Amino acid sequence: MKTIIEPFKIKSVEYVKTTTKDEREKILKRAYYNPFRIPAEDVLIDLLTDSGTSAMSAKQWAGIMDGDESYAGSKSYFRFEAQTKKIFGFKHIIPVHQGRAAERILFTKLLSEIDDDGRFINAGKGKYIPNNNHFDTTRANIEFNGGIAEDLVIEEGKHPSVLHPFKGNMDTKKLEEFIKKVGAKNIPVCMLTITNNAGGGQPVSMQNIRETSKICKKYKIPFFLDACRFAENAYFIKIREKGYEKKSILEICNEMFSYTDGCTMSAKKDAFANIGGFIAMNNDEWYEQCKNLIIITEGFETYGGLAGRDLEAIAQGLEEVIDENYLHYRIASTKYLGEKLLSKNIPIIQPVGGHAIYLDAKGFLPHIPPEQYPGQALVVELFRAGGIRTVEIGSVMFGKFDKNGKMTPADMELVRFAIPRRVYTQSHIDYVAEIMWEINDYKKKIKGIKITESPKFLKHFTAKFAPIA
Ligand SMILES: *Cc1c(COP(=O)(O)O)cnc(C)c1O
Repeated sequence: MKTIIEPFKIKSVEYVKTTTKDEREKILKRAYYNPFRIPAEDVLIDLLTDSGTSAMSAKQWAGIMDGDESYAGSKSYFRFEAQTKKIFGFKHIIPVHQGRAAERILFTKLLSEIDDDGRFINAGKGKYIPNNNHFDTTRANIEFNGGIAEDLVIEEGKHPSVLHPFKGNMDTKKLEEFIKKVGAKNIPVCMLTITNNAGGGQPVSMQNIRETSKICKKYKIPFFLDACRFAENAYFIKIREKGYEKKSILEICNEMFSYTDGCTMSAKKDAFANIGGFIAMNNDEWYEQCKNLIIITEGFETYGGLAGRDLEAIAQGLEEVIDENYLHYRIASTKYLGEKLLSKNIPIIQPVGGHAIYLDAKGFLPHIPPEQYPGQALVVELFRAGGIRTVEIGSVMFGKFDKNGKMTPADMELVRFAIPRRVYTQSHIDYVAEIMWEINDYKKKIKGIKITESPKFLKHFTAKFAPIA
């Protein structure tokens, strides 16, 4: 087979800075060993996230110049609306400034009662929201509104090295048991994340979307997709699920969303935009209520906290992301890094997901217990050794503490190497693999990490850490 090449060429470049190991040690200390606190300028290869970090195309930049900044009903909004309707097909689509704004609006609406004056009164207590795996902001928005977020991914999805073509699937049997246990009336919505970011960027099959939808219909529970990586998910369906080989990505997307009542979306992922998102739904009454929430914090319904030019960039990005050549390259280039790590028996979630490599830190650093955050320890080491920025997705993010301060660890201790879209070349990725190979040779010497200061919600963003001596 011929080498899979980037289906684009580089028109504009951005230089990156190299640092010495001594400098990086100082940078780490100043950042309290938290990658979110490291100034981006000091990072050589930034794999912290694939969110908002895409390289935009010449056509997106052209759209930015052409953006219509009218307050209401701008031309850019209508282009955005037409493009999102073409792919997602929902009756109502409202732009918001990013995915979590869509979540905040959805969960504020669903976990509130609305009084005669149209005010939202929090009523989240005793309400449950199932998902395959809630992403951190999704979970935080549910919990912040008093609800309970329940993860019901299939058993295979919890074991890093177990192979399954759709490890992001919802465990539909568990879902039905869960609905019977807590009562359908206490479940205002069922979510499904495509691809499953917190569970390793693993796809969800069309069959699973269909079955989840069927269960939701049976119990009259609305069904929403967390659609951030819908195009990558559609591509996996095309190459892995019987009956979809000959369908276009657009046809697959249309079918995925046809089984649902709405979606939340971060345009910072599969829309190649640096900012933006939207919330979409079919229900007219919900739409009216969500609009009231949107106008309070996001803005008028045709711009939702975005500039007209952002809507242009999103509309054009959504056109480019459903291109099969792009998706072919995208999925192959993520797999390329995964195969390099596997060649030295470095444990990663398999099969490789869409947007990132997830290294199994529990397997890689078995001498560090979850209470000493093996994932965070590796994140720190990757920066120290090579100026590479990654992120822990494990007990720092999802560990729960009881009253006595004892931690219940997350299911998995992962380090995510997120691959920004259209940004790094093959030699950048080769370098990342080489640093990991080096670390692999001395990994027994790596020590654990402790948290020295931490806020209540989304603690990984701002917490302070220190190495354990
Ligand atoms: C990024 C992400 C979000 C939140 O989107 P933001 O634009 O970062 O607010 C929600 N769900 C998933 C699965 C994500 O990956």
